[in-house]
Amino acid sequence: MNIVTILGSGTSTGIPILGCNCEVCNSTNPANSRLRTSVFLTTALGKNILVDTTPDLRFQLLTHKPDSIDAVIMTHDHADHTHGIDDLRPFSFYQKKDLPLYCSPETAESLRRKFDYIFNPKPVIGGGIPQLKLIEIPFAPFAIEQEEFEFFSLPHGRIQTTGFRHRSLAYLIDCHDVPDELCEKLNNHPLDWLIIDCVKPDPHDTHLGFDKTIEIIKKIQPKQAGLIHMGHEWDHDQLQLRLQRNGLFEAVPLKDGDILQYR
Ligand SMILES: [Zn+2]
Ligand SMILES: [Zn+2]
Ligand SMILES: [Zn+2]
Repeated sequence: MNIVTILGSGTSTGIPILGCNCEVCNSTNPANSRLRTSVFLTTALGKNILVDTTPDLRFQLLTHKPDSIDAVIMTHDHADHTHGIDDLRPFSFYQKKDLPLYCSPETAESLRRKFDYIFNPKPVIGGGIPQLKLIEIPFAPFAIEQEEFEFFSLPHGRIQTTGFRHRSLAYLIDCHDVPDELCEKLNNHPLDWLIIDCVKPDPHDTHLGFDKTIEIIKKIQPKQAGLIHMGHEWDHDQLQLRLQRNGLFEAVPLKDGDILQYR
């Protein structure tokens, strides 16, 4: 079995939002506490693959405690998915090799600019940097650490984000739509889990709102669906009830620390 651990399930600010006094941000239900969205794959072949390096990465890895990271996939260049990149430093140091970081050409170009000190280092005395090797992925079946992945380009406002399928898991985050051809393709591939964006109850310019999320789940028809990247408009238990009222009994709002298995 392959395992996906939910390192974070929250939107770009994390929940609670600093300074917000709403009911969800003040909730004592641990399910309403959400770090920035990221997942960690532990494959049946024993490979550890991190998806995104959020500003919460240090806390996420202190909780999850992986021994090693074999590869990193970066879905896109937004701050909530990239700004923990420096916390990869100990892994590249202890593993004594460059850590491969896979992303789209568009994201690679942005990362080179944003993290110039990592990808275009000047000779300095003192101070370490993460040793990373940027690898641009094609939007076609592609092997990472002997694991076959398929990558998809998804619309996220004015940019594109990268979704993927690994065996019977599909991961579609930070997108405001999922093209019909992709829904059809994933529908034809039996999925144990679909992890999908659901930022708010209402439609949104750059993310999936509730109605769109359920429309896509119904098109893809995975065995189980997990909602992720939730904002403070969502109380965990109420979102679960709303899924059931819409007939989606195999769908759940994901929580930080959830561990899902897939074939
Ligand atoms: Zn995001
Ligand atoms: Zn709030
Ligand atoms: Zn984003």
